[in-house]
Amino acid sequence: MLIRIILGLGVTVACFAIAGKRFFWLSQLIRSGQPAPRRFQGFSKKIEAEVVEVAGQKKLLKWTVPGLAHFFVMWGFTILLLTIIEAYGNLFQRDFHIPIIGTNAFVGFIEDFFAVMVLVSLTTFSIIRIKNDPKRKERSSRFYGSHTGAAWLVLGMIALVIITLLAYRGAQVNTGNFPYESHWAFASYAVASWIDPLGSTFNSAFETIMLLANVGVITGFLVFVAYSKHLHIFLAPLNIGMSRRPRALGGLDKTPDMDMENVTEDTVFGVGKIEDFTWKQMLDFATCTECGRCQSVCPAWNTEKPLSPKLLIMGLRDNMFSQANRLIAQKADEGGGEAGEVETLVPFTIDPDVLWSCTTCGSCVEQCPVDIEHVDAIIDMRRYEVLMESRFPSEAGLFLRNLENQGDPWGLGASKRLEWTANVDFEIPVVTDEIPEDVEYLYWVGCAGAFDDRGKKQVESVARTLNRAGVKFAILGSKENCSGDPARRVGNEYLFQEIAKGNIETMQSAGVKKVVASCPHCFNTIKNEYPALGGDFEVVHHAELVEHLYRNGKLKPGTNYTGTVTYHDPCYLGRHNRIFDEPRSLLNAIPGVTQVEMGRCREKGFCCGAGGARMWMEENIGKRVNMDRTAEALGTGADIVSTACPFCMIMIDDAVKANGREDVRVMDITQVFEQSLLEPVAAVPAAAAESENSAPEAE
Ligand code: SF4
Ligand code: SF4
Repeated sequence: MLIRIILGLGVTVACFAIAGKRFFWLSQLIRSGQPAPRRFQGFSKKIEAEVVEVAGQKKLLKWTVPGLAHFFVMWGFTILLLTIIEAYGNLFQRDFHIPIIGTNAFVGFIEDFFAVMVLVSLTTFSIIRIKNDPKRKERSSRFYGSHTGAAWLVLGMIALVIITLLAYRGAQVNTGNFPYESHWAFASYAVASWIDPLGSTFNSAFETIMLLANVGVITGFLVFVAYSKHLHIFLAPLNIGMSRRPRALGGLDKTPDMDMENVTEDTVFGVGKIEDFTWKQMLDFATCTECGRCQSVCPAWNTEKPLSPKLLIMGLRDNMFSQANRLIAQKADEGGGEAGEVETLVPFTIDPDVLWSCTTCGSCVEQCPVDIEHVDAIIDMRRYEVLMESRFPSEAGLFLRNLENQGDPWGLGASKRLEWTANVDFEIPVVTDEIPEDVEYLYWVGCAGAFDDRGKKQVESVARTLNRAGVKFAILGSKENCSGDPARRVGNEYLFQEIAKGNIETMQSAGVKKVVASCPHCFNTIKNEYPALGGDFEVVHHAELVEHLYRNGKLKPGTNYTGTVTYHDPCYLGRHNRIFDEPRSLLNAIPGVTQVEMGRCREKGFCCGAGGARMWMEENIGKRVNMDRTAEALGTGADIVSTACPFCMIMIDDAVKANGREDVRVMDITQVFEQSLLEPVAAVPAAAAESENSAPEAE
């Protein structure tokens, strides 16, 4: 007995000391990061996230088989904590059990059930890993670039925890030390029946050896976790709790140093070195499980570009760990320690082609089971490159100059912003001073809507449809500027804030309260990013408003359309703002239409390649993203590819034409819907129209 106690406790104390030292070091490292805004807000949302994502494993269960396997391993470990308590008790007293529940037959069953399910899950993980072996499948394996050796070691260690547990419990049954008399602890009794013929001396020794082995494997596992990617076992609940709520997508943060009104000569714009990241971003890097779910959905990675969000996070993590002692010392010195000749992240850790390949589509953030916020990290590094180093693709320089000088990325100029209105046969009020009293919405046309021929068709259709439903709206005309989205996504935060503040002032001085936008990028920026700069408007996308008008009987589709339509989710409407149903509802409303979904739709929708200011940059590496997406759309057999974003329309239309498929049309959902509209709905009084037309409350 004494040997059991000495060995069991000795190993435990040693392992806890090693792991504890590592966790203390890790906490110092993470606390060395910059302050992170908005991390302690929305307590109820955080609790919900812990329940849904950590306990319910919601994100992981989207990948059914590995999700279920992970669910059982996670809950298996949680429930089997009871057996760990009993194992330590057994070191001192061979028949120790937790009072009351320690003899409950049902508890015995649950423990054995989860022990078996963990073994089944480990087998499932092994099969998944063999099927997705990166040596064989290379880039198409989500484990490409992950530390696969460590993953196999962890699977082996977890298996040993369960095997030693069932072994010593089986021996306990035979030595009379097992607390559950009923055979509900079925797995332990099964093991007991196998080893019973070996005799009582063997069973007694076997009980001690397996008990010590169980304690040793568990504490050894703790040390291994502390030094490996399996840190997520402890860090994931923390990282999920500290994630931006209600979601990390949508608006980007204006971090404190990016407040252009408080710039000092020491201000570093964006992230140039690892210490410029916030503590939350450092926590992100330490939490990555290397599961590769982000990599497998990334449009850049899927079109042979060098960007993998997983490898990017792993690269930043490796850099952080390699710099850890310097960062901790620097923090202890409260900024007194100099970074000296520390290499910048770009190009030494992150290749420029990696950084500039991102479309900011948000698929990686959406899929990541531990809520890592890749897009923010990428934009932070772009900010440094643009504002501190003036390093960016040359085409980006051109559109940024156009934005600065002409107020639109193409440099066509404000005087042309009204040209599209010549194609509608009714008067659209242009706000010159104050928005007229009877006008409910400011229609934010957007640069693509005003200048691109395909974009013009979209906004013309939206304007006609709103007018048909009796919605009173006005436009800013030449006073409208770019929303600033491309400047912000390319990293020119200074220009973004200048543009955004100008637009906010224009809208506020005109008395604008409600905005309907056609471009999801403008919609997202005005809705989610202008509030931090003082611009609070009620913003809807036209898909929401037109669908609302249809549901309220203001628009009556009636003409049959006997074709097949598929819908492409724009990233900034769907994933970033959760507007998935309204466009589909409009298509469903058209009599006779057959709607077909692409495999990658809704939350899993694949980017068109235009986001993140990629619209104005060359795509010289790998396949074109729009060609990949369009191949999927054409594969549905649809004769109309519909969407709700002018940039998606342009990208997909280009790819449809490049495929020689002139028989397939690319249209906005409002254009498709408008074709089916019958009689104009009778005009309603202005006051009634205002309340009835109001779109649903913004989220
Ligand atoms: S935002 Fe999209 S393109 Fe950028 S890394 Fe994530 S998945 Fe890839
Ligand atoms: S970033 Fe998230 S999704 Fe990507 S590998 Fe790491 S844990 Fe998995």
